[in-house]
Amino acid sequence: EKEYIGFATLPEQVHRKSVKRGFDFTLMVVGETGLGKSTLINSLFLTDLYKDRQPTDPTEKINKTTKIEKRTMEIEEKGVRLRLTVVDTPGFGDALNCEESYRVCEKYIDDQFNKYFQDESGLNRRNIQDNRVHCCLYFIPPYGHGLRQLDIEFMRRLHKKVNLVPVIAKADVLTQKEKKRLKENMMKDIAANQIEIYEFPECDPEEDDEFKRQDAELKASFPFAVIGSNTVLEVAGRRVRGRQYPWGVVEVENQQHCDFVKLRTMLISTHMHDLKDMTQEVQYENFRTQCISQISQ
Ligand code: GDP
Ligand code: MG
Repeated sequence: EKEYIGFATLPEQVHRKSVKRGFDFTLMVVGETGLGKSTLINSLFLTDLYKDRQPTDPTEKINKTTKIEKRTMEIEEKGVRLRLTVVDTPGFGDALNCEESYRVCEKYIDDQFNKYFQDESGLNRRNIQDNRVHCCLYFIPPYGHGLRQLDIEFMRRLHKKVNLVPVIAKADVLTQKEKKRLKENMMKDIAANQIEIYEFPECDPEEDDEFKRQDAELKASFPFAVIGSNTVLEVAGRRVRGRQYPWGVVEVENQQHCDFVKLRTMLISTHMHDLKDMTQEVQYENFRTQCISQISQ
C-alpha cells in the first residue's frame, strides 16, 4: 500500500501547462546540528534521504565549517512529477562566529539566482531548470524563550532573498502551555526585529468554508512546532511515525501532538505554488533588478 505525501494537488495550485514538464521545488533546511533537520525531512517526504550517510566524522566538528549538501529526488504521485531538492547545511551555527554560516547559505541562494539569470538570457530559455531556493525551513531550538541573537541575525540577513519559514524543533520536549508561550514570544521577536517571514496569501473569498477554516488554522499556528521520527510504532493497532516515551508515544502526524501535518500541508498540498510564485515575483525580481542596475552603471 502506497503512502501519499500530497503534492498531487499541485495542478490545482498551478496552470495546467507546467504539469507535463513536472515541477521543481527546492527546500533549504538550516539550523544547528542535532535539531532534527534530517529526521524531519525524512518524515516529510517519507524517504530515507540520508540513509547512505556515514556516521558523523569527529573531525567534522573540529573543522566547524558550514557545508552545503544537496540531494535531489524525482517523485511521482498520481501522474504528477516533482523534482524535489533538499539543501541541507550541516555545521550551521556550530562555530563560535556564525558569520561564516550565514555567508555560506546566502551565497548558495545568490548563486542559484545568478545561474537562473544567466539561463534566462541564454538561448534555451524555455527549458530552464529552476534550482532557486523556494523555501528555507529555519529550525529554532525548543529550549529558549524566543529568538536568539543568532536567529535574528540569520533571518534578517536572508529574509529578502528567500521565503523563511521558522519552525520550533523537537517540540515533544514542550508542554502545550510552553509551546503557546514560545510561539507568542517568537512572533513578538519577529515583529520587533522587522523580520519578514513567509506570509500566507489572503484566502480567496471564493474558497469553500472548510478551506478557509484550514487556512485560518494554519495562520494561527505559526511558527509550527514540529516533531520528526524515522521510527514506525504501533499505537492501538495503528502504525504511526512516533517517538516512544515511558509514558506513551508522541505521534508525528497527530495534530494534538504537534504541527507536523500543518507544515506538510502548507509546504506540499496548499502553498508550494505560492512559495514558487513569491520566489519568482518578489525575491528573484529583487535580485534581477539589482543585477540590471549594476550592469547599466
Ligand atoms: P540534524 O543534525 O539537525 O540533521 O538532526 P538529526 O535529524 O540527525 O537528529 C539528531 C537527533 O535528534 C537524533 O538522535 C534524532 O533521533 C533526534 N530527533 C530528531 N527529531 C526529533 C524530535 O522531533 N524530537 C526529539 N526528541 N528528538 C528528535
Ligand atoms: Mg542532518
